[in-house]
Amino acid sequence: MDARQALALARRVIAGEPVKGYEELYAAFLEMRVLFNKPPSWYERALARAILGVRQVGERHWFVPGLPGDYYPFYSVWLSVDGRYKCDCHSRSFGRSREKAICTHIAGVMVSRRWRRLKRDLGIATS
Ligand SMILES: [Zn+2]
Repeated sequence: MDARQALALARRVIAGEPVKGYEELYAAFLEMRVLFNKPPSWYERALARAILGVRQVGERHWFVPGLPGDYYPFYSVWLSVDGRYKCDCHSRSFGRSREKAICTHIAGVMVSRRWRRLKRDLGIATS
């Protein structure tokens, strides 16, 4: 799946369309929707990154795929010792303006972790 297909799929999931195999991703989106008040494009980009594959490379460190409109093909997100997510886009272009808002790279990690947990928990509940 390429980035445009992932964005299209993310839009369908966010719209509440039943997409086979992505039921838990919709649940993860709903959790994010409770936590944040963001425009639809913010969720779309976060879900698309999770669909493309957020890769955990350390206990508190993830690689997040870029999307059209990003400057880099990958971003590095980590949990700092104070428990806050950090992204290397903060130290790159437009970092200062992005640091105040939660970037969609971090949101992608949050969605991905919720999605993984829900797949595990709901899989046990329905089996
Ligand atoms: Zn970022």
